[in-house]
Amino acid sequence: RREEDHTHDHFFKLILIGDSHVGKSNLLSRFCDNKFTLEFNSTIGVEFATKTLHIDGKHIMVQIWDTSGHKKVRAITDAYYRGATGALLVYDVTKHITFVNIQRWLADLRNHADPNMVLTLIGNKSDVRHSVTVLTEVGKSFAEKESLYFIETSALRDTNVEKAFTEVVDRMYQTQI
Ligand code: GDP
Ligand code: MG
Repeated sequence: RREEDHTHDHFFKLILIGDSHVGKSNLLSRFCDNKFTLEFNSTIGVEFATKTLHIDGKHIMVQIWDTSGHKKVRAITDAYYRGATGALLVYDVTKHITFVNIQRWLADLRNHADPNMVLTLIGNKSDVRHSVTVLTEVGKSFAEKESLYFIETSALRDTNVEKAFTEVVDRMYQTQI
């Protein structure tokens, strides 16, 4: 299969969720590197990038949605969630309130999204060791309680970013809701 051949075996929609400034956009651009097309849909206030991954010898095209203009988030909820089979819930390990708010984002997801959606909890900015306010164990035990996969990342240092995205896509592929 040639690289310029745009056919793919599977197409998945993955969404990024979490308070503003937690690093969602940086995680997205870090993961997609130079191989992405960032498009902006002004009607619903989101940006999305697409990336092709290879799992089980299959070409998996993943469209990753990111909110821009967080004030509009409430209004875009339905369009944002529609068709998504995976979500990355992101908080900032240096801002405790962003971790507290994960509860709200989860409630929102459970109201609007497919109940079988594949979820990952991400504690981002793991590089800022000196001002951590959400300890790894705290994030981990919350994730266990809520049955979420958990990982800490640094978009800045490029730590665990690839792992977080490929892991969630891999589970989306295995689940195929
Ligand atoms: P978003 O609002 O969730 O999309 O967050 P952004 O990606 O725009 O990031 C918000 C701020 O946090 C920016 O100043 C980024 O440079 C910074 N940032 C994002 N990821 C990291 C990270 O992993 N480590 C550190 N130290 N800063 C980060
Ligand atoms: Mg952003």
